[in-house]
Amino acid sequence: MKKIYLDNAATTPIRQEVIDEMVHVMQSEYGNPSSTHSIGRSAKAIVETARKLIAKQLNCNAQEIIFTSSATEATNWILRSAVCHFEVKRIITSKIEHHATLYTILALEKEFNIKVDYINILPNGGLDYSHLEELLATEVKTLVSLMHVNNETGVINDCKIIADVCHKNKVLFHCDTVQSIGKATIDLQQNPIDFLVASAHKFHGPKGVGFAYVKKGIVLQPILFGGEQEKGWRAGTESVHQIAGMAKALELAYQHLNEEEKYILDLKEYCFSNLKAAFPDVKINGENTFYNILNVVLPFSEEKTAMILFNLDMKGIAVSRGSACQSGSIKPSHVLAEMLNEDDLKKPSLRISFSHYNSKEEIDEFITALKMI
Ligand code: PLP
Repeated sequence: MKKIYLDNAATTPIRQEVIDEMVHVMQSEYGNPSSTHSIGRSAKAIVETARKLIAKQLNCNAQEIIFTSSATEATNWILRSAVCHFEVKRIITSKIEHHATLYTILALEKEFNIKVDYINILPNGGLDYSHLEELLATEVKTLVSLMHVNNETGVINDCKIIADVCHKNKVLFHCDTVQSIGKATIDLQQNPIDFLVASAHKFHGPKGVGFAYVKKGIVLQPILFGGEQEKGWRAGTESVHQIAGMAKALELAYQHLNEEEKYILDLKEYCFSNLKAAFPDVKINGENTFYNILNVVLPFSEEKTAMILFNLDMKGIAVSRGSACQSGSIKPSHVLAEMLNEDDLKKPSLRISFSHYNSKEEIDEFITALKMI
């Protein structure tokens, strides 16, 4: 059965050039980067070239990039180190962050009794920046953790505004840029962000590898102990082929950014206008959303709600649940719960997320399948 993959915010297919690069590294560069012989040095060179390539895309120094196994690991490390080693006593975040951030903060709150403040969310899914300023008026050693693009709604937060407010108030800013790295230009010379995190599988790279950006001058402590890899901040033999694949994927993502953004935005608009034609009461969840994510609430009855994902899946169509209080059996999305009214929360929301591998024909098939439910 032909598959239609419209779940690119969950993960993305790997580009062929990235696979080729990884296969080459696995076949030819099997050395341990910590070994001092030529085979080890050659593997080390692959890792360091990847670091430089990634830094170049973000306009930062290679020494500011630290490889990890995922964005989840990078976020856990940064937030934990900030609390344990920088004596951060309060974290300001939002209730619509990814669980990688939310649950890390909850664990730190329990373990270290830090204060956690949640910035208000507007009904359009955006952040109330004036509330952030208000919260920062209290003087206590603080870290702000707010995401760039929301993974469920695609709502874009203004990192520059947040970074400037944090900078002005001399507090640290950790930004989850998992959904935007490789899909939007991020210039770290223009933006006083202290930490950001990324994950290769969101930009057509391999799974199980990511990185953190840690601004020069900030010295973190490890949460994994062992070898001296990654300046001693993240012990463990580097996954050379995955790191090389991630760098290749990021390079290609930025090389094709303009054309792919245009193409994907056109797909998203096509999808929404056709959904609107088929279901006039369909609504978009959130305003000012990123070009590859469309989260909609569908005017379907409760009986149909339970059937949607199952029916689409039977036809090989992959989308994601936005929310569903299907007969109370599934918890509504923690993001939509902060934004929608009770009525809309009961209706099915779907997250449709696109990549340059999708086509208008696939969208036609998706909408035809929805109409048949
Ligand atoms: N943050 C956001 C916004 C995400 O969408 C994801 C992945 O779903 C993560 C963090 C976690 O990334 P990883 O899969 O690298 O752990």
